[in-house]
Amino acid sequence: MVSRVIPVESFDLVIFGGTGDLARRKIIPGLFRRYVAGQIPEEARIVGAARAELDDQGFRALAAEAIGEFVGPAKREGDAVERFLAHLSYVAVDAKGEAGWSALKAKMRPGVTQAFYFSVAPALFGDLAERLHLHGIATPEARIVVEKPFGRDLASARALNATLAAHFTEHQIYRIDHYLGKETVQNLMAVRFANILFEPLWNARHVDHVQITVAETVGVGGRGAYYDKSGAMRDMVQNHMMQLLCLIAMEAPYRFDPDAVRDEKLKVIHALEPVRPEDIVRGQYRGTKDAPSYVQDAENQSSTTESYVALKVNVANWRWKGTPFYLRTGKKLRARASEIAVVFKEVPHSIFGEEEGWRENVLSIRLQPNEGMTLSVMIKEPGPGGMRLTEVPLDMSFAEALGADGADIPDAYERLIMDVIRGNQTLFMRGDEVEAAWAWTDPIIAGWEGRGDRPKPYDAGSSGPEDALMLLHRDGRRWREIRE
Ligand code: NAP
Repeated sequence: MVSRVIPVESFDLVIFGGTGDLARRKIIPGLFRRYVAGQIPEEARIVGAARAELDDQGFRALAAEAIGEFVGPAKREGDAVERFLAHLSYVAVDAKGEAGWSALKAKMRPGVTQAFYFSVAPALFGDLAERLHLHGIATPEARIVVEKPFGRDLASARALNATLAAHFTEHQIYRIDHYLGKETVQNLMAVRFANILFEPLWNARHVDHVQITVAETVGVGGRGAYYDKSGAMRDMVQNHMMQLLCLIAMEAPYRFDPDAVRDEKLKVIHALEPVRPEDIVRGQYRGTKDAPSYVQDAENQSSTTESYVALKVNVANWRWKGTPFYLRTGKKLRARASEIAVVFKEVPHSIFGEEEGWRENVLSIRLQPNEGMTLSVMIKEPGPGGMRLTEVPLDMSFAEALGADGADIPDAYERLIMDVIRGNQTLFMRGDEVEAAWAWTDPIIAGWEGRGDRPKPYDAGSSGPEDALMLLHRDGRRWREIRE
């Protein structure tokens, strides 16, 4: 199946922080891939902006290098890179000073969709918003894209929302959570709401529990100082995992429309019960003789920041009362694997007796690697010899099923940037959602800080701390294996 590419209208996209790591690894390569796919019109312009004194040629050279490093050779055939680079230019701008702003203003074309990507440290978001306004650059329809982290608690998120709201209306603000741009995550909505099969079973009567796992093999080396002020709860749970939980738990929106979807997600966040201390396990990875420990990576010997967290979360509403959601995420784990597993209940009565090998049905939604879904079902083991049951996966790898070679599935950033240009906010977090997520997270963090809890050590390459196993064992359940 060839995926349809619907071209967007012409635009002026300014990437503040255009020389930074995120721009080099994700934004510029993503734009290039969309260009090759034929989605970016020839009139579109992309302007890099940062303090470094570069000229257009210097920025194009930087972009060419990024494309060479992060885009496969098949996409770089012919003169595609050169043609794409012709759309790029650069302005030296200081978010905290007045230099460069009039040059930027001169570049913007009237009547063309404007987007400003804030790919800079969050401390500069307010300065950028203010200067875009002060210098009369942003039109009332201009869009701004803000990166994570959006605050580090409710108070700072509220302050940031207020700063942005002083210059932009909510319909102009696109808060990125790149998990929402993943193909599988959107497919979750399609599977739930475009099929009759699952929805009748999608509730506490039929779902035993849900597991959401985001496991990484990398440590925090390189960004240890940043991570140490954040930890797994702030870095992964409050945003990405909360969004996944919302998409699993939410009611059907009345329409696939930005506010209808976000209203339903918000109701889920409001329905989350406070998490009890005994339902949280925090961990920190140990070192080995060849690999540094967390505290070495973070360069903070007394750090009590968690590089792993597991929680049992209850959604207190009619649909989910009694069905726990178990969340876990961590660094330096055994495999890089992200999965949502919806584990269904047993049949009410087994006509086959105590059948060995019997397993509950599980719908597994893999986010990485190899995005796709698997539904495990029980069938009869083939051959004579009576009725023996065996579990088989109904496997749907998106890359295979859709005839894509994996490289053709757009990266989350590609899709999200195109949504900004189209003016579609469905896959972006609304201000009230972010605040509600922090309002749920803050007491959890305050709880362990108040108790002086220390994270449990775990071995690099393991599945996390032993105590996390107990979180499920004591409920008569077990974590699914973490494997690629
Ligand atoms: P980075 O590598 O440190 O790049 C920062 C960029 O901001 C550079 O282009 C820098 O260029 C520019 N900059 C710094 N001070 C400036 C100022 N006063 N005025 C104008 N430009 C300024 O950071 P990054 O990793 O790309 O991260 C950018 C944003 O994305 C952050 O909010 C981060 O939290 C978020 N994010 C990053 C990643 C990632 O994988 N990197 C992932 C998720 C979210 P000059 O120094 O030349 O000005």
